[in-house]
Amino acid sequence: MIYYSQNILQSEYLSKQPCAKFLVEDLQNSIKRNNVALNLTKTYINSNECNFLVSLFHVPYNPKMNLDACLFRTATIDPELYAYKTNVMPIILEKYSDGFYPVDTVAIFPENHIDGIQKTGEKIFYIVNKFAFRHVNITKKILNKCVTSDSFQQIRELSDEQIEEAVVYWVWFHEYNHQKCGGLPLPKYLTLKTTKFIAGLEELRVDIGGMLLCAKNIQKFGNKAGYIFEFILAERLLRYGVDGVKYNKEGCIVPSYDAVGSYLCFNLLLSNGGISIINNKIKINNNIVQSLEDAQSKIHQLEYQLNTLPEEKIKLELLNFIKSTLHVDELKTYSSDPFFNIMRSEIGYTITDKESL
Ligand SMILES: [Zn+2]
Repeated sequence: MIYYSQNILQSEYLSKQPCAKFLVEDLQNSIKRNNVALNLTKTYINSNECNFLVSLFHVPYNPKMNLDACLFRTATIDPELYAYKTNVMPIILEKYSDGFYPVDTVAIFPENHIDGIQKTGEKIFYIVNKFAFRHVNITKKILNKCVTSDSFQQIRELSDEQIEEAVVYWVWFHEYNHQKCGGLPLPKYLTLKTTKFIAGLEELRVDIGGMLLCAKNIQKFGNKAGYIFEFILAERLLRYGVDGVKYNKEGCIVPSYDAVGSYLCFNLLLSNGGISIINNKIKINNNIVQSLEDAQSKIHQLEYQLNTLPEEKIKLELLNFIKSTLHVDELKTYSSDPFFNIMRSEIGYTITDKESL
């Protein structure tokens, strides 16, 4: 930590930044107290005046992140969104250091800092332009090659501004649903939901919640409700399942929890008629909203058993639900839904990354 403090103080640019000054003080205090805590840095980061963030990070899925910094601006937030209370902070990165480069580094959570602490109300930064980049580079290819031409019609021609707007709505509703909806909200039930497959189900649950907020509030959100709905569906159903996999050290494909959320979405909607497969392409059917409601009510039925069942039993039931949805007896060796192997080859997507754990 002395090394990092010296690095900051030696940099002409960094040493002038308020966030860097707080970080140096925090690091020096941490050494003195023999206890790592970035209280001053995080208080500053959570204040409205911060547009340059520097910190010492520890992110298990991104070992490149260490002493890293970014310059950002807040994305445009529609006033309607403030009715849905959440601590999400959608930002546009303007400049950033190497640790922010990996494509799947799209958010900064309070527990990503070296002290690993997450306090209630601390902001979760979602990097809007990185979500937008993935949509343009991967999701659009999937839309062109792997879905029927009458599906996802409202997101085929979105402008850059509309894509950013859709991302802001998505991440906002995503966090709102994590924290305020369902029988087992976060962070209270985080321990119950940390294993990969249950985390994947949670990601699906909250995005279904976001889509249904759009579908049921068309008057409030106007015509944007339609394309935001399709945007969330495309990202959750299609993109994560395609690019959310890596090879592990043994050369086996390993899905991220987001990819698991995608495979669960695909199988639930296929079984209840929300989607169909026609000539190896996904078709979104007219009853998609009803199908999403059915899927949501199945997940909620399991979650709302908390009054009658102990947490461990609910966890088992969630795992059984996941196994039966994915049509497997064993989750340990589960790699990818076979249909997504077809989709990857259709768009020429190569899995290259080694799992970084
Ligand atoms: Zn999430």
